[in-house]
Amino acid sequence: MGVDQRRRVEADRHAFLSYAVRCPFCGTPVGPRFVTREHLDVPPDPPYAATVRCPACAEMFEVHFTPASR
Ligand SMILES: [Zn+2]
Repeated sequence: MGVDQRRRVEADRHAFLSYAVRCPFCGTPVGPRFVTREHLDVPPDPPYAATVRCPACAEMFEVHFTPASR
């Protein structure tokens, strides 16, 4: 078995910032408040991904922002 595919989700960055992205494990809306680590490009580019810890089920996963939304 490989890595759990649910641990990497792709999302529109603006949707994430407005809590429109849901935890792939339990469906709870997640957003910036639940980021444990941002994955940064060279400043001033915005982050390309963020590690999120779900507030409901405590699962960790990475949200990768679609390039067009960054
Ligand atoms: Zn969850």
